[in-house]
Amino acid sequence: MNSIKQRMLNQSMKTKWTFATGITIFFSFAVITIILYVALQTWLINNEEKNALRTVDDVTTFFEMQGATVTIQQIQHNKGLMKAILTQEQTVRIFNLDGIEILRINDVSVAANIPSTVDELLSPQITEQEIDGTHAFVVNKIVHIGPFQGIMQLVHPLTTFDAMMKYMMTTMLIVGLGALLFSVSISYYLAKLLMKPLVGLRDSMEAVRKKGFEEQLNLHYTADDEIGDLLRIYRSMINELEMAFMQQQQFVSDASHELRTPIQVVEGHLSLIKRWGKDDPDILDEALNTSLAEISRMKTMIEELLNLARREKMDPHASANVEQVLQSVTEELAVLYPRARFSQSVVGQQTDVAMSEQALAQVFRNLIENGIRYNDEIPHIQTTIHYDEDNVFVQIEDNGIGISQQNLPHIFDRFYRVDESRGEIAGGTGLGLSITKMLVEKYRVGIEVKSQVGVGTLFLLQFSRKNNNF
Ligand code: ADP
Repeated sequence: MNSIKQRMLNQSMKTKWTFATGITIFFSFAVITIILYVALQTWLINNEEKNALRTVDDVTTFFEMQGATVTIQQIQHNKGLMKAILTQEQTVRIFNLDGIEILRINDVSVAANIPSTVDELLSPQITEQEIDGTHAFVVNKIVHIGPFQGIMQLVHPLTTFDAMMKYMMTTMLIVGLGALLFSVSISYYLAKLLMKPLVGLRDSMEAVRKKGFEEQLNLHYTADDEIGDLLRIYRSMINELEMAFMQQQQFVSDASHELRTPIQVVEGHLSLIKRWGKDDPDILDEALNTSLAEISRMKTMIEELLNLARREKMDPHASANVEQVLQSVTEELAVLYPRARFSQSVVGQQTDVAMSEQALAQVFRNLIENGIRYNDEIPHIQTTIHYDEDNVFVQIEDNGIGISQQNLPHIFDRFYRVDESRGEIAGGTGLGLSITKMLVEKYRVGIEVKSQVGVGTLFLLQFSRKNNNF
């Protein structure tokens, strides 16, 4: 039993579906048919029984109506009237008490056995018998014809009833077989129709598995049902995987490309030390300093590359207090850049923004540090926080060297540095604003930049207010 169940479970969905619906439809049909057959049989046999008993009653009444003086001979001459009481198939015989037939109306069936006891005759019962190969109802009853007392026997053949039931059975079997075939074909067709998109999805997934993410899911299915959902989920999963895969590739190519030069520089200086540096303290000192600077740059770059590659998921419950985060970032930078001056103004009622504190601090750090580093004057960073009904605006303005209109569209690109030599001096990697862009996009924060060479740069951030009911 278990092995049959296991084998059934291992069949394709189409087979299971066809089998299950086919069997269900067929069994429902079979049950209805059997109920109908039994009901019809009961109704018909009751009808036959009623007809037989009615004939017996009619014939008895007929005899009683002939009066007390009528003789068997008179009745024998009057058979025509009695024939009208009987149906064509019924036969009535009158026997004397010795069992000798003395009258017969109709002669369709042979006589049945007469009951041997008087009791049976006094309380006549209808019995079902097989007479000479014919299925029939038989009624035996004591009758009085004038002074004569005898036994009346009615034989009511059930040939029409049997023929009808046989016909019904054959028809039902044929129709049942047809229904089985029909239900199986309908179920198979339905299963095929319903499974088609699923089979298509499976084939497409298989193609994607074999050929990789570049292979697009070649399936056109627009219905908004479970398979549609499956397809949407699968597509978004593939997109995420593809993105993660591309990020990984990007990280590998960025890291190998960007780290090659500093490694070569360090390698060059180390061989210099090996060859001459041991004896010449000047060369040793310079080579070590350059190597340390390169290593520190590499460290920053690796951290930033990892930041970009990590791309943690946006936290929908994140919230941050802009003023507090700004304060701690400013304090941190004031230690690093003691020359820099910071001023701050706030307009409106304080409210949190929908961004994680860590991400917000990184954005502020990148923007403010750039304002300090790309600056020929005493750096002055001016921040304005403006709370309104739906948004929080933060403006970060510096008095730095500014960015030309020609460079402005590219500052958010990876590894983009306006002035290579200046960037190198300032220790930049060209990744700070890429990270900023990635973070603001993740938390759906608007960012705009305005700049004028020699005057300064202004970054405007637009956050959505954190809904406290969220
Ligand atoms: P980096 O690590 O080199 O600073 P960023 O992505 O932060 O990289 O910035 C990209 C380039 O944009 C910088 O090299 C710099 O030339 C320019 N830049 C960014 N911010 C400012 C600013 N506040 N003032 C002037 N130039 C800026």
